[in-house]
Amino acid sequence: MARPAFSSSVERVVAVVAHPDDAELLCYGTLRKAREAGAVVSVVVVTHGANGVSITDADAGRQLSEDEREKEVTAAWSDTGIDVVFLHLTDGGLVADLHLISLLEAELKRLQCTLLITHSPRAANDHKDHLAVATAAANAATRVPTCHTVLHGEPHAPRSGFSPTVLVDVTDVVDDKVRALDAHHSQGGRWYLSSEYTRHRAAQAGWCLRPAATAIGRAFEAFETTLLTLTFAPSREDARP
Ligand SMILES: [Zn+2]
Repeated sequence: MARPAFSSSVERVVAVVAHPDDAELLCYGTLRKAREAGAVVSVVVVTHGANGVSITDADAGRQLSEDEREKEVTAAWSDTGIDVVFLHLTDGGLVADLHLISLLEAELKRLQCTLLITHSPRAANDHKDHLAVATAAANAATRVPTCHTVLHGEPHAPRSGFSPTVLVDVTDVVDDKVRALDAHHSQGGRWYLSSEYTRHRAAQAGWCLRPAATAIGRAFEAFETTLLTLTFAPSREDARP
């Protein structure tokens, strides 16, 4: 049968994101499901995120240290079997230039990426670091011979231009996703990290594309794709008459 991913050979799934907390928002459940299915899974966090200051009254204006948010990412992914790689660039000014593209290409080749997940390059008015990483990672992937599929995750806030066609069923790890987002203490007060929004988004993705499944309680993460390679793997049962 044809399978878009997680087929018989070992998949190496790499999520390349701009900031600490982005991978948890875009694809926490997808990465957990991939790991459970036997894939080698890595998260590459491009910036340290120290300019992403808290918006709660108590912390307003406090400057974060460069390792503070990276520690929160490490906590969010602890005990999942998923590796996290930090590239330590400064957030707020990323551009998809030769430096960033080369950096990401080297990481994707080192990790032997087969399935890349990153931000959407088409989400209008999204954070410009997200757009830069999306463009640079997808460009880099074209020169990674092992990379057969590229998925672009849903922006944190609704954006025109994002039009998902791919769903991953994450029903049984939505509670874990809520807990992972809670690990980002420095970002307290941001609505898109709330449990309510996480559960709403997981249902909304399904109501848009698979309402019959959502009606019986399934929850999803949604993606666009710019590259999808089908692999024909042996079936357990021969379906020939
Ligand atoms: Zn971000």
